[in-house]
Amino acid sequence: MKEQSYFAHYSQEVRNILKEKEIEPGDRIRIKSEDIDYEGYILPRIDIGDPWAIVLKQDDGYNVSVAYQSGVKIERIGEGISLESFPKTYPEQRPDLPEISLLATGGTIASRIDYLTGGVVMAFTPSELFVAIPELSEIVRFKECNLLFNLASEDLWINEWRRMAEDAAKELNSGASGVVITHGTDCMGYSAAILSFMLHQGLSKPVVLTGAQRSSDRGSFDGAINLLCASWLAGHADLAGVVVCMHGEPDDTYCLINRGTKVRKMHTSRRDTFRPINEVPIGKVWPNGKIKLTEKPQVPSKRRGETDVVPDTAFEEKIALIKAYPGSNPEIIDFLTDKGYKGIIIEGTGLGHTPTSPPLSEEHRSWLPHVKRALEMEIFIGMTSQCIYGRVNPYVYRNLRLMSNAGVVYLEDMLPETAYLKLGWVLGHTQEKEEVERLMLKNFAGEITEKTDERAFLF
Ligand code: ASP
Repeated sequence: MKEQSYFAHYSQEVRNILKEKEIEPGDRIRIKSEDIDYEGYILPRIDIGDPWAIVLKQDDGYNVSVAYQSGVKIERIGEGISLESFPKTYPEQRPDLPEISLLATGGTIASRIDYLTGGVVMAFTPSELFVAIPELSEIVRFKECNLLFNLASEDLWINEWRRMAEDAAKELNSGASGVVITHGTDCMGYSAAILSFMLHQGLSKPVVLTGAQRSSDRGSFDGAINLLCASWLAGHADLAGVVVCMHGEPDDTYCLINRGTKVRKMHTSRRDTFRPINEVPIGKVWPNGKIKLTEKPQVPSKRRGETDVVPDTAFEEKIALIKAYPGSNPEIIDFLTDKGYKGIIIEGTGLGHTPTSPPLSEEHRSWLPHVKRALEMEIFIGMTSQCIYGRVNPYVYRNLRLMSNAGVVYLEDMLPETAYLKLGWVLGHTQEKEEVERLMLKNFAGEITEKTDERAFLF
C-alpha cells in the first residue's frame, strides 16, 4: 500500500506530516491538542471532501473525522491493521428478538476503498456490515445474511429483481419477521417499485430497502443509522409492504419510511435524499426503536399473520421511458416501434404534453403522427409528467386532448419510473390492449393516490 495515493485527498500540509512521521494507512495514531484527544486507525481517503479532516476508525468500530489545525499533534503509536477485512468476531444473537433476513445487493452501503485502485468498490459482505454495526444485535436476530450480488444499482435489471423478489419471499415464507435489502441508492426507487408489484400478492410483513449516500470510510457514513432503522422496521413495525427507509433530515436523528412506489432520490449527495412524491411519508423511525406510522396507511398495510407471499415476476423487457422536451426528435418513437417495443412511457411536460402543434414550418417536430403510428401497431403509450409532483390531465389543453384522443393513456399521479416498471410487469401478464390499459390504471401497490395531500409537495 503506498501512502501517497491513499492520502491523496489530504492537504499537502497533512500529507507532509504523515510522511515525516512515517504514518501509513491503517496505522494506529493519536491526534491530540489542548481540546481534543483521539486514538484510532488512520483510514485512506479517496473521496473529495475536507482536506483537513483526518478519518480514524475508532475501537468501537465507528469512524470519526478530526479536523487538523494549528496546535494539533499527530503521533504514530502502533502497528498498522490490515484494512482488507474487519475482525470476524460476531456479536451474540439474542433469542428473545425477532428474526429477520438481510439480503445485500451492493451499492455504497456495501462499499469501501479498493486498496489497489484507490477507488470506492462494492465489497462489503453482510457479515462485515453486521460486525461493523454491533448495535444491530440489540435490535434483531439474523435468520439469514446473504450477499445476492454486489452491483451498483444502475447495473440492475430484471434477473436481479427476480432474485430479490424470490429470495425475499423465501425468507418471509420460512419464518423471517421481515426482510432488509441493502441496495445502491441511485436506482433504489426503481427496485422498490418493481418489488412492490412483484411481491404484492400475500405480502404480510415488511420488506425494507436501505442504503447509504456516503461510503463507510467517511465520517459522515449514513449506512449505520439507515440499517439500524431498517432493522427496527423489519423486525418490529406493524407494517406489511415494500418500503424505503433512509435518512429523514441531514442529521443522524431519524429515517423516513416511504412507500416503494412513491419514493424518489431527489438529491445527488444529501443524506436525506429520498423523498415521498405526491404523498406524505408512511412514517418515521428513530435509531432507538421509536416508530411512528401515519394513521391509516392502506398500502403498506398492517402486519398480518403468516400468509404466504407469492412472488409474481413475469416481466416484458421491451419497454422504454422517454422524455419529451422542446426540440425533441419524435423519431425515437419510430425507432422503438420498429425495434419491437411493446410499451412506452412518456415523461411529458406539465400536465402531460409533448410537442404536438408546432408552427407549420416545424411540423416534423410534432409527436402526434409518430405516436399514432405506434398506437396503430398496438404499442401501449402511457403519459406521466416530468414535473414529478402533481397529476397528468388529458382535458385541459387542446394538445392534451389530441394525444389522449389518439389513445395515449394518462397515468394519474404515478411516478414516471414506477409507471415504466409497472408497464413491464403488466405486459409480462397480458398484451391485450384494453386489459393493459385497465391494469395500468388499477392500483396494485399504492402507486396511484386518489387525492393528493396538500402537505406532500416538497415534503
Ligand atoms: N451508484 C451507486 C448505486 O446506486 C450509488 C449508491 O449506492 O449510493 O449503487
